[in-house]
Amino acid sequence: QPEERVVANGDGTKTVHFQRTPPLSSYLLALAVGAFVVSHTRRCGQTPIRVWSVPEKRGMASFALATAVEVLSRLERYFDIPHPYAKLDLVAVPDFEFGAMENAGAVFFREALLLVDPRSASHGEQVRAAEVICHELAHMWFGNLVTMAWWDDLWLNESFATWMAFTILDGWRPEWQVWRLFQHGRAAALEVDALEDTHPVYVAVKSPEEATENFDLITYQKGASVVRMIERFLGERSFRTGVRRYLRAHREGNTVGADFWNALA
Ligand SMILES: [Zn+2]
Repeated sequence: QPEERVVANGDGTKTVHFQRTPPLSSYLLALAVGAFVVSHTRRCGQTPIRVWSVPEKRGMASFALATAVEVLSRLERYFDIPHPYAKLDLVAVPDFEFGAMENAGAVFFREALLLVDPRSASHGEQVRAAEVICHELAHMWFGNLVTMAWWDDLWLNESFATWMAFTILDGWRPEWQVWRLFQHGRAAALEVDALEDTHPVYVAVKSPEEATENFDLITYQKGASVVRMIERFLGERSFRTGVRRYLRAHREGNTVGADFWNALA
């Protein structure tokens, strides 16, 4: 949340009060501590968007900012709900383990996936960065505003966000032909799926540790292929209507897979 007020304590320290955080799943809370510098602010509707990086990499934010502004407005139109959080900070974290993490209002990225210099980055690097930014921003609705009740429905987050990223990018940059790239991911998922120790897109999960095993090609790429198949079967408009119904009915709440199917029915 943005700062509400800052009080100087008179001893060289200060106390920062932040606006109240809306209801949020605990895994979406994040703090970034370090020598970060901030880009200028761009706005998408009501949402101020900024990029944070280490000082050595300042000046590399323009690609991420431009992508985030465009993608966020497209997501708002698709979901028919404004971005649910008061700000959007994109943080380039040195040595970040994952590709990215969709903390509400403070999304963390591996540096190479956020700080892209369009003059030197390859086409593939730019598409990959745009896809990851788009995927994480889709989570602000699918995952953050509405969260799966338990990790067995991880696909509700990841299959959907993966599909949504390609859908939004294809609408914005049709010349990128991202659905071709999508087929590479699906082919890789089907190879894993041919192994004896593969798993269904939906998996019963006993512990959060067990859930981490399922952040894989099956949950992301195969799951996204199934979402795409269903969207094609129902038709773009009916599917989008169902998605909007699902988000409105369960905002700031928790869901299971059946809630999504019911909203589509
Ligand atoms: Zn994700």
